[in-house]
Amino acid sequence: GYPAFYARQIFSWIYKRKAGGFSKMSDLSKAARNYLENNFYISSLKVLKRRISIDGTEKFLFELEDGDTIETVVIPEGDRNTLCVSTQVGCRYGCKFCVSGLWGFKRNLKVSEIINQFIEVSGIISPKIVTNIVFMGIGEPLDNLENLIKSISIIISPFGFHFSRRRITVSTCGVTPKIRELLESGLGVKLSISLHSADSRKRSLLMPVNRLYPLADLMKQARQYAKEYKFPVTFEYILIKDFNSKMDDALKLSGLLKYSKYKVNIIPYNPTPFFKWQAPSFYDINRFVKVLKEKGIFFTLRKARGQDIEAACGQLRAGRMENSQV
Ligand code: SAH
Repeated sequence: GYPAFYARQIFSWIYKRKAGGFSKMSDLSKAARNYLENNFYISSLKVLKRRISIDGTEKFLFELEDGDTIETVVIPEGDRNTLCVSTQVGCRYGCKFCVSGLWGFKRNLKVSEIINQFIEVSGIISPKIVTNIVFMGIGEPLDNLENLIKSISIIISPFGFHFSRRRITVSTCGVTPKIRELLESGLGVKLSISLHSADSRKRSLLMPVNRLYPLADLMKQARQYAKEYKFPVTFEYILIKDFNSKMDDALKLSGLLKYSKYKVNIIPYNPTPFFKWQAPSFYDINRFVKVLKEKGIFFTLRKARGQDIEAACGQLRAGRMENSQV
């Protein structure tokens, strides 16, 4: 029963002006403020842990209203501060190197829980600002696509945070049909695919999702996405010692990406006590990237960040899950 323009005002109060309560919404009628106050509340996240790495990476463990926990990370790099956001409690894909899936899947995050990671961290690190957002925290973003799309819509809305869509990256382990849906949503955000092996058999060993959505179809869909948006899809490739970091792995990767304008992020594995995998030697890393260079593949060699603060996916939450089981 209130005027339609109230919707835009409330939206802007919550997201743009970050009003923590309805009483501050001075351009609404008193009756409307009271009504909102009595029927709704503006949620927030509770910071359980905040850890700062010597390399500047900060990791937050947030408690949700039902007591579950999620992680959010800020990674500074030059004048960029990249926020790494979680989309689920747990994960159902069970990649064999990732801590996030160890306790299975619990639930999807609500839109408010996704957005609040951005709001809370922005407040805490201020006057530094978040310049980029990557959906690479706990969970599979494309498995919570509806809430992901709503969250990103709020983040890029001129009445919301007015964040540039080109500074937002959605990362997937390869849920091919959902990439199509993301494409059709028209959001125009960047896409990153966790590849980790160019050999389908090996990839299946590491990432069971490859049996459900095979590599060849995934690559086709990636090409489609790149074509539609005219910017390169990124592939994440973690280098694991004695598994996917030898010369023939680099040759296979070069072969797979040869004819397309892709970008590859090469990242040495961030070891965790939960898996036997290790990062390869400098020798192996150098040989790997040398092959990519020779083959003309466009890549960036990334450092594993925040190793002193358990910044690998899901690690901080893992500590808590372990404790809760004791
Ligand atoms: N489910 C999505 C997003 C979350 S994982 C996806 O798979 O892309 C974000 C990235 O971290 C993925 O590339 C994942 O493979 C990688 N990752 C997970 N655990 C890691 C570890 N211990 N060391 C390095 N990268 C890791």
